[in-house]
Amino acid sequence: MKFDVVVLGAGPAGLGAGYRLAEQTRASWMIFEAAGRVGGLSSSRVDAKGFTWDIGGHVIFSKSPLFNGVVERALGPDALTHTRESYIRTAGRFIPFPLQNNIHRLPLRAMRECLDGLIAVEQRGNAQQPAHFGEWIPWRLGDGIARHFMMPYNTKLWACPLNEMGYYWIDGRISVPASAEIEQAAKDKTGNHTWGPNATFRFPRRGGTGALFNNIAAGFAPHIRLRHEAARVDAKRKTVTFKNGNKVSYGSLITTAPLDHFAQKMLAAPGPDLLRAASGLQHNSGLVVGIGINRLIKNSRCWAYFPDPSVPFYRVTYFSNYSRLNVPRPGAQTSFMCEISAGTAQKRNASTIVKETVDGLVKSGLMRPDDRRRIDSGWMMKVPYLYPIPSLTRDAALAPLEKHLHGHDIRSVGRFGGWRYETGNMDHSFLAGHEAASAFL
Ligand SMILES: Cc1cc2nc3c(=O)[nH]c(=O)nc-3n(C[C@H](O)[C@H](O)[C@H](O)COP(=O)(O)OP(=O)(O)OC[C@H]3O[C@@H](n4cnc5c(N)ncnc54)[C@H](O)[C@@H]3O)c2cc1C
Repeated sequence: MKFDVVVLGAGPAGLGAGYRLAEQTRASWMIFEAAGRVGGLSSSRVDAKGFTWDIGGHVIFSKSPLFNGVVERALGPDALTHTRESYIRTAGRFIPFPLQNNIHRLPLRAMRECLDGLIAVEQRGNAQQPAHFGEWIPWRLGDGIARHFMMPYNTKLWACPLNEMGYYWIDGRISVPASAEIEQAAKDKTGNHTWGPNATFRFPRRGGTGALFNNIAAGFAPHIRLRHEAARVDAKRKTVTFKNGNKVSYGSLITTAPLDHFAQKMLAAPGPDLLRAASGLQHNSGLVVGIGINRLIKNSRCWAYFPDPSVPFYRVTYFSNYSRLNVPRPGAQTSFMCEISAGTAQKRNASTIVKETVDGLVKSGLMRPDDRRRIDSGWMMKVPYLYPIPSLTRDAALAPLEKHLHGHDIRSVGRFGGWRYETGNMDHSFLAGHEAASAFL
């Protein structure tokens, strides 16, 4: 069978391509998805006890009118709107995010350290640029914020030495308040909770984040073939062979599979230069653990970050607060969704991780000790590709890969297809797929 455009993957990027392709009638096209469902990392699950889970805390927000319009149409009245209430758990307290804007809420000594650090940054100016992310953190935010949050948190999240990471993805995108502003906030006992692009966000009333992508996919369902994992791509002959033995040919190919895997395992005869480039792409892996409790814990929190190395998760989402329908008995239960990075630096034992997570939730004050006997569900999912790491080697690795693929009418897009963390959200991925389809049309 031959198609003008073949898309590999029905995650947000593949569906973005499909959305664009469905607007026209001339080109023949098909999306092939390895899994038995659409949505990829943005899909949702319902566990055996009836709790809904996402693959880590997903919130829908975008600056793109195109993406926002798609969300409105796909969710209609089921699009809930939330105001972000997020925290950092440090020094035994929950400090509103971002920490830089709320350091006056820290205990006195920690506050002084953070403030002194920021004053030292102001006095130093911007001379002597840092060499890597590990140097950038104290250089940009001072030693106190580095010590109380940024260094331990990022070490835990990325599970990658910070001196192997660049800072091109974060510089200029974080709040760096002047020390005078902080001193004023401390006097006024105020603080800024509303900083950042996701200060308000959308969430589906039912079905988790995956509902958004199920609804988008329903608009062009005859163009999606599930359970079709592409195993081999012959870029010269323009063919894709699937694990199930089927084979198709294409005029143009959009792939959203992880780019390292695509170059190393799927592409026929990639050659040493491409293989070397693909080995320069780093990623971490992880686990998502969901804990459902038979007690309503009343608060309006959205999520919290955990720099503490003695608890396994780096972030916990108060998932029953996103929609009361995320639990089987709304109003009587609570669900916590915990993200655990399990890269090279932090090997975690999957058989004990649910218990370790509960211990961490109790230790951090999210659950009471007596909630242990109210646990209704302990769900766990492994995530082999969690974050594409913005490493020092990334851009040099991407350049030859992209050049080669473009030369063969292949575009690799999306979170792991494009491998750019800073444009790796749902909206970016959807729009990248949309744009790739437009380019081929
Ligand atoms: C913990 C976590 C939290 C996140 N939070 C947010 C958030 O709050 N807001 C936000 O906007 N984004 C968030 N994201 C990012 C979001 O998940 C991604 O942007 C989005 O899912 C990427 O879409 P994609 O299509 O590029 O990739 P994926 O979602 O990975 O989809 C790729 C699809 O391709 C399929 N596939 C792979 N290989 C093959 C093959 N060989 N053949 C056929 N099919 C194949 C896969 O099965 C999958 O369905 C988060 C991600 C994570 C991990």
